[in-house]
This record gives sequence, C-alpha cells and structure tokens, in this order.
Amino acid sequence: MSFHSVKDYHALLVNGTVTCTDAVSFYIQNIKDNRHLNAFLEVYEVEALEQAALLDAKRQSGKPIGKLHGVIVGLKDVISYKGHALSAGSHILENFQAVYNATVVERLLAEDAIIIGRQNCDEFAMGSSNENSAFGPVLNAADNSRVPGGSSGGSAVAVQADLCMVSLGSDTGGSVRQPADFCGIVGLKPSYGRVSRYGLIAYGSSFDQIGIFAKNISDAALVLEIISGKDEYDSTVVDAHFHYTNENSTDETYRIGYFPATFDHPSLDGEIARQQKDFISHLQKSGITVFPIDFDLLDYIVPAYYILTTAEASSNLSRYDGIKYGVNQPAKEIDDQINLTRSKFFGKEVQRRIMLGTFVLSEGYYDAYVTQAQRVRNILLKKVQSVFSDVDAIIFPVSPTTAFRIGEKNNDPVEMFLADIYTVFANLTGIPAVSIPLFKHSDGMPFGVQVMASHLNELSLLTLSEKLLSINRAKE
Ligand code: GLN
Repeated sequence: MSFHSVKDYHALLVNGTVTCTDAVSFYIQNIKDNRHLNAFLEVYEVEALEQAALLDAKRQSGKPIGKLHGVIVGLKDVISYKGHALSAGSHILENFQAVYNATVVERLLAEDAIIIGRQNCDEFAMGSSNENSAFGPVLNAADNSRVPGGSSGGSAVAVQADLCMVSLGSDTGGSVRQPADFCGIVGLKPSYGRVSRYGLIAYGSSFDQIGIFAKNISDAALVLEIISGKDEYDSTVVDAHFHYTNENSTDETYRIGYFPATFDHPSLDGEIARQQKDFISHLQKSGITVFPIDFDLLDYIVPAYYILTTAEASSNLSRYDGIKYGVNQPAKEIDDQINLTRSKFFGKEVQRRIMLGTFVLSEGYYDAYVTQAQRVRNILLKKVQSVFSDVDAIIFPVSPTTAFRIGEKNNDPVEMFLADIYTVFANLTGIPAVSIPLFKHSDGMPFGVQVMASHLNELSLLTLSEKLLSINRAKE
C-alpha cells in the first residue's frame, strides 16, 4: 500500500478500497520498520488510530468530509500541538508540553487530518544536516551513511521513506527546500506572510515560514491552501486566499530568468551544474523563454543572512532562561541559574549563534554588521522587484552538493554555513520558493532545482513547477 497523492487516497477511501485505519496502520508499521532512520521523536500511535476510526465512521455515515480527510501528517518538533511534547530538538525543552495549538495545527485538524507524530530536527532549527539535534542524527533513507539535510531532516525523511503522507517543517534559510532536495521530494517555502507563525518556535522571526514536504506539487498546494491565510494571532500574515488549480496550466507561457553567477559558482558540484544547465537548454528548446540575468551579490547573501538571523535568534532565545520554560540547573543566585541552565542544556551550535548574534548587536559593532546586512537585504529586495517586473520565475540550484556523509562537514561551521548560498535568498527577500526533484547524481543521490516567484505568487510558482516536472518526465 502506497498512496501517490491525497487525491488518489481519497478516491480509494470513497470507493471503499481502503480505510483511514488501514492507512494509519500502514504508516505506523513503516515507522516501526524504519526506527533506525530516527525521523520521529515521538509517534502518536494510539491517538492516530482513534482519530482514524472516528473519521472512518464519519465518512461511512455519509457526513461531508474535510479536504484533508484522513491525510497522515507529521510535524517538525518546532510546531505546537496542544498537550504534546515540544522540544525544538533541544535538551533545554525536554520536559516541555505545548499549551496551545499552532494555527497550522488547528487548520489541519479542522479539515480532518491525522497527526502521526513529532519529527526530529536540528536544535532550534539551526543547521543543514540534522546533526545538531540533541536526540541524534537522522539518516537519509536513500543512503544511510548520508545526512538528510536540515534543519527539518526528520520531516523530509518521513515523506521520503513513506512514514507519513506530508510533513510540515520550517524554513528560515532553506530548512525545507534543502532537505527535500537531499531526499528527492518536493519542499515548499511559502512567501513570508502567507502562513501564520503562531505556535512556531521562533528562530529568526523576519525570515521564518512554515513549509511543506510532499511527494508531489498538488499535495503541497492542497496543504498550503488549508494552512495559509489571515490569522488574528500573527499580524504579519497577509489577507490573501490561496487556491490551487492547475487546469490549463500547460497552455500558459512563462518567462523564466536565471542568474549565471549561481550556476557558475565555484562551490557548485560540476555534475549538478552540468545537469541543471542541460535542463535549462532543454527548456529553451521546448519553447520556454529562459534567459540570463546579471547578479553580482551572490557572495554577500550568506553573511547577510547569518548576521541578521543570529541577531534575531539571540533575542528570540533569551526566553529559555531556566525559569519560564523547560528544564533548569538550580543555583542560589538567579544569574547563576540562568548561566548554568543555558550552558548545560543548549547545544554547541545554538550557543555559537547566540554569541554571534549578541556580538553583532553590541554597541560599536552594530553598524559594521547589522546595518550593513540590512543594506544588503534592501538591495536584494530592490533587485527582486526589478527582476520580477520582467520574469514570472527564477531558477536556482538548491544546494552546492547532494546529501553529504554524516560527519563530513561537522567540524567546519563556516563551510556548513556557506552551503546555504542558494536557499537564503528567498528568505532574505520573502519570496516563495520550491525545490523540485528532477535528477539523479552519479553518486546515487537525488537532486533538483529551485524555482522562485514574486511575493504571494505561489500559484504561478506551483503551476510552473508542475510543468517543469512533466517536461523532465517526458524527456526521460
Ligand atoms: N541551514 C540554515 C541555518 O542553519 C537554515 C536553517 C533553517 O532554515 N531553519 O540557518
């Protein structure tokens, strides 16, 4: 039993071939058979089966069913699900339970989704390999010696290895798109302001967005339709409805831009660059307008991202003081308690970023770092405005390499940071971006390309991506 899409699954439910209970049992068994991947920190087996039985009864009694009826969803361990543990992959929150539902969770449940468990991730969503989780690394299901990417590694592997149908992750600088790329699935980061962040543990609040992992574009689009939209608990959410229909999409004409600087960058693996460039030529031959656009800021974007996000993180993470949340290391003096708790229960990478952020925000350094990084961000925003007055979409690589080996980059934080070169652009500018699986590398690992559109233009982003996937399939 494996379901190609929510649509197929619903057809099988309606004609009685399967039940939600069958589906939950199938995924629970798969999770048990794949424990070694370490994708889930917790599985809600009993609850999910109970929910499935309720949904089966509801459907069989002829009551109208929700748009995500019986759809089995996993949640990255940074999204609040009331009454369930929420740890952000960190020891500091090990005993913490969510006291309310994230808006996305409320909306999933209102459409009859079944939440199957809490997924492993890099601590506080900081990382690109899932090796920064306090609860051990996640293994890539395509090759267990390789990382799944990060920070939403567990959520990506869960979809890759058929442990759930779709997952929700978070993407501050690529944490949905890069692991999706490393695992050969679809990873969507919506526009900033498309999805409520209420109930998402904050990392860099002006960058964070909840994103979606799925096996295909239409499932990702359907989940986006449900979780997006205005929310009284997050004033940054835009009042705009998203509805996906790809009818007639093949007739549409698109203008696509690419920055040659991205495909010619020395960090990009030669074989990845070659296959992506061949794909661009193939698109051009298929009658799609794809043309180069000058871009000379590539080497500024990773530094700008790490300055601004660590600055925001140092402030966001100040709430974990051993008093208000989670565990603590008791001491006589309050200052000692805070120091001891944070030193003992935050991992190394989180401590590094808090210190970096505190440093760039400090008097005497603020202008040299934060103000400069904000300038870069503003220039990028202007660039995006001018580019999208001419094109419908931009194509980028997703990551300079395919999934690397566990431990390979762990000793060099700067090298790990630099590998975010292609994903942080969309977060700095707030535009929507999706990574789509297209190719296989000679090392056996999957990879694809990243497609970006203008702010709130997920509809053309996803219809075009669907089209690119089908052009690639036809080519094979
Ligand atoms: N790899 C990036 C980082 O470590 C992305 C993180 C994210 O998107 N949450 O900051």
